[in-house]
Amino acid sequence: MTGATRLAEELHRKNIPFERGVPLAPFTTFRIGGPAELLVRPRNYTQTAQAFELTQLLNVPYFFLGGGSNLLVSDYGIDGAVLHPDFPEEIQILEQNEQYLRARVPASARAPWTGKRLSELGYTGLEFLTTIPGNLGGSVIQNAGCYGWEIKDVLASITVLEKGEIREIPTAEAGFSYRNSRFKNDRSIIILAAEFKLPAGNPAEINSRIEEYKQRRLKSQPRNRRSAGSIFKNPPPEVSAEKAWQLIDRSGLRGTVIGDAEISTEHCNFIVNRGRATAADVYALIRLAEEKVFVVTGVRLEREVVLAGRFDEPGSAA
Ligand SMILES: Cc1cc2nc3c(=O)[nH]c(=O)nc-3n(C[C@H](O)[C@H](O)[C@H](O)COP(=O)(O)OP(=O)(O)OC[C@H]3O[C@@H](n4cnc5c(N)ncnc54)[C@H](O)[C@@H]3O)c2cc1C
Repeated sequence: MTGATRLAEELHRKNIPFERGVPLAPFTTFRIGGPAELLVRPRNYTQTAQAFELTQLLNVPYFFLGGGSNLLVSDYGIDGAVLHPDFPEEIQILEQNEQYLRARVPASARAPWTGKRLSELGYTGLEFLTTIPGNLGGSVIQNAGCYGWEIKDVLASITVLEKGEIREIPTAEAGFSYRNSRFKNDRSIIILAAEFKLPAGNPAEINSRIEEYKQRRLKSQPRNRRSAGSIFKNPPPEVSAEKAWQLIDRSGLRGTVIGDAEISTEHCNFIVNRGRATAADVYALIRLAEEKVFVVTGVRLEREVVLAGRFDEPGSAA
């Protein structure tokens, strides 16, 4: 009996929802990717902790799936368990007064929904989040940001599952930096919820910032094309004064097509799915950009997008 089969039996015994062989493409903004051997949908913190513990006990590989908006899932899919919580999308108000709001939101809540709901209450600081796809947990892992804001600016604490225990970590201990946190490369930590402390703001100004950010998005990003946002991080200023998209553009890659994936003509740091792109197509473009940008500019690009599952080197026999 394989580990995954034993895991399925245990999940069934504990009433933790799961399905076998679920195609993951619909769970990603790229709309690309093969099946999850087991897609596990814990409904609360306890089930998440139980499911995670079972993967460890039974030695079954696991991957945590958020909103799938910063993700390239392999065409072969993901072996073992893909944990994809399905907590109720609700905001827990901890403290609310004329100066500030403290609120806790589950990690599986959609990030734009979270930004919108908390802004509607008349508190400021999360207007930018209304324009970032994905789930709240993913935006914490990634310290997501735009227009001069990052999620770390308004986070008070983070509730995590670490070494089988649920605990709260103050923001100062999360190791946040540009599109990074200490959770990003530590797969033993799962984000369960985030607590925000937001100052009171002027509702009209909050609304106009949300509208301004929306318009800026519409102008700068590829329209009507599936993507995972920026593929590469912008290099630090001491490495290059140019942003990732400028380096890719200068390397002559704007509009380059492999299979049905394309380096966007509208924003060179986006790779878009023109309809039938495979993960192999996208991966080949990522590798091409890395190699060509290094040859032309001397800069080694660092990936922002996360790869899940197995990827063959372009040109190698599968
Ligand atoms: C059109 C478009 C525009 C974008 N614009 C921006 C932008 O302006 N700024 C920006 O920062 N990003 C942007 N992104 C990228 C993306 O939306 C963010 O990085 C987002 O925060 C990722 O969240 P997610 O839930 O989709 O994570 P996923 O893609 O599901 O996962 C990303 C990584 O985080 C891990 N992870 C996710 N949730 C958890 C959790 N709860 N616990 C543990 N690990 C977890 C996953 O295992 C994976 O390693 C954009 C994406 C798109 C498609």
